[in-house]
Amino acid sequence: MSFPPGDSEFAFELASCAWAEQEWPPTGEPTPAIVARQLGWQQRRWDTIVIEVDPGAFETRAAFGPERLNSDLRHVLQHAPESWTYYREALPHPGYPWRYVRESIHEATARDALESRKRGGQIEIRRVEKYPDWVDRIIAIENKPDLDASAARRLTDQLERDVAAGIADEVWLATTGTDSRVEPALLERIPSEVGILTLGPEGVDVRWRPRTLDTEQAGIDILDRSEGGSHDQSAAQFEVLSRAAKSEKRYDIAERAYERGWRHYVESMRPDCAHFDLTVGRYGYRPTCTAFDRTQTPRECRGSCPHFQPEPPQHRQGGWPIEGGPGQTVKRILRERSARRHSVSSTVTSDRGTASR
Ligand code: SF4
Repeated sequence: MSFPPGDSEFAFELASCAWAEQEWPPTGEPTPAIVARQLGWQQRRWDTIVIEVDPGAFETRAAFGPERLNSDLRHVLQHAPESWTYYREALPHPGYPWRYVRESIHEATARDALESRKRGGQIEIRRVEKYPDWVDRIIAIENKPDLDASAARRLTDQLERDVAAGIADEVWLATTGTDSRVEPALLERIPSEVGILTLGPEGVDVRWRPRTLDTEQAGIDILDRSEGGSHDQSAAQFEVLSRAAKSEKRYDIAERAYERGWRHYVESMRPDCAHFDLTVGRYGYRPTCTAFDRTQTPRECRGSCPHFQPEPPQHRQGGWPIEGGPGQTVKRILRERSARRHSVSSTVTSDRGTASR
């Protein structure tokens, strides 16, 4: 099976995720990390996301369960006290109505992430664990298997936005390696802060090292920019990202990465189709369609696909051949591999209670 697969950007993206899961970082000592895909902020989506974690803090985060913790929940868990305290005395004012805090308290309690009780008509809270600073670094990788001049031109604006925002610690561009070095002219178009990786039959090469971005300082989110030229007098639109806002976005991304991983694509495909298969590539499994004889995209792999063929009914009954048919087996395999992200060791490898105040 060739590496990287040349079937589509989707296949390339899965290969990039699989590689990162096994081999991150491309140079230096192995680093505990989790991998996700298609996450970002506002209308910016990164293809592959690597979250380098602090192992001890990551284990503490894992104790809160596999579902993501949104910013309201994190606010409660970060400030919950060690001993029983009225919640309005324990938590700093959130900047939004307290009733939303009560909702978060109820939700956190239902998820066993927090203890709460009612005393004298007041809600008191006590922490189970303090929400930890588990994210060390965030790496954003833009995948572009066919990097030519026009692709480089289109990518430049997006990558410049990533660099100016400084939400990720590093930004990389991953492309297909060829016998010749990546065209210097193409490199010139890419911001010098962005690293360049090439994926080829021999594995992954670093062609340009990225600059570490300053995530501790305020950043700029470039929302729109003038096209340039002597007749374009339109102003660029941008937003200042405070250090606190960047930190919130970083943890929003990390929490979603933790919940989703990168194999959730199977949820929007049809592993119950008789043509759906998994093949073993250089860095692990990837979906394959025996009708198309290649990696199919989620857009293709739907019930409306002209080649869709339901599994034989007996495959869905009585645990055939072991625990259901091939479709169930595919889901199980991918679930098991996704579950690894919740163990850092294997990675190295509603308005309620209005009466309450
Ligand atoms: S035939 Fe269509 S639905 Fe079946 S696996 Fe292939 S792409 Fe998916």
